Amino acid sequence: MNDHFGRTIEYLRLSLTERCTLKCAYCRAGEGLCPKKSELPAEAFLRIVRVMASLGVKKVRLTGGEPMLRRDLLEIVSGIRAVEGIKEIDMTTNGQHLPGQSRLLREAGLDRLNVSLDSLRAERFTAMTGGGSLEKTLTGIEEALEAGFRPLKINVVLLRGENDDETDDFIALTKDKPVWVRFIEWMPLGESDCADKRVPGGELRAARPYLEPAPPVYKGQPSRDYQVPGYMGRVGFIDPVSHRFCQYCNRVRVTSDGMLRPCLGSNLEIPLREAMNDPDDAALREAILRAVRQKPEAHGFDGAFCANRNMSRIGG
Ligand code: SAM
Repeated sequence: MNDHFGRTIEYLRLSLTERCTLKCAYCRAGEGLCPKKSELPAEAFLRIVRVMASLGVKKVRLTGGEPMLRRDLLEIVSGIRAVEGIKEIDMTTNGQHLPGQSRLLREAGLDRLNVSLDSLRAERFTAMTGGGSLEKTLTGIEEALEAGFRPLKINVVLLRGENDDETDDFIALTKDKPVWVRFIEWMPLGESDCADKRVPGGELRAARPYLEPAPPVYKGQPSRDYQVPGYMGRVGFIDPVSHRFCQYCNRVRVTSDGMLRPCLGSNLEIPLREAMNDPDDAALREAILRAVRQKPEAHGFDGAFCANRNMSRIGG
């Protein structure tokens, strides 16, 4: 699938649920309880993946909300694994439900894991996440590494005055473990407002001249990668606000209630449910192609854009 700006769309981010174990304020501000009944069933997600794959999608990331809250997660992973054309299946998780699950996920066909982790200090972690357990996420990471998820990416959103004093502790994680820590700039989505706490990636890099650039894994990847010489892992910076990478964007998102969002930084969403009422896939194909044709050239994070959904309701 190509959009109007010559970009090839081959990456689908599938939000399996809006529900989450954690209540990180910058992600879920103002949200109440998320209704389970609005979530698509596993077979609907698999149908979307099949049709997307027939249109050229090669990679799927499962996200949410917290994807590990879906009881049918393993069924979804193995179902996607069986879809012709899908070469990679990844998942982003907060790690709270990861202990005991990594091998099963691997066996079901999951290729890569990203674990979100905003503090390495137990009390702060609990405060920032509204009750989460640092120990569970760290145990989940260790087990995931043992199960062969390598490199394992750790997503960190730094907020000034909240957790940016841990930047070097996160970088130290890359010393002896095959983990790639990625610092992600906070983006203005939904009701959260942390604009005055956003820490630009350029500022973090400038303060650490010992970081050496590492070659990108693929052209146009969102993160700019670095390494501390001699360290095993990498340090990446994903700076969508201060360093736009929209010209390389290759992705679309489907929310757990069946809306296709062609751009994270735009409120445009195309409903897929109606098209899915038709047992023939033609209507669904057409709805997907229509959405891709409308993909904006660039996100609106630096303008007056005001997202109608939090990240947890879009799919991070
Ligand atoms: N529950 C899973 C998790 O915690 O990884 C997956 C969903 S979560 C929405 C995915 C990622 O989005 C997390 O790494 C989170 O830190 C990030 N995120 C949420 N809101 C954000 C925002 N406004 N700006 C930047 N990243 C955000």
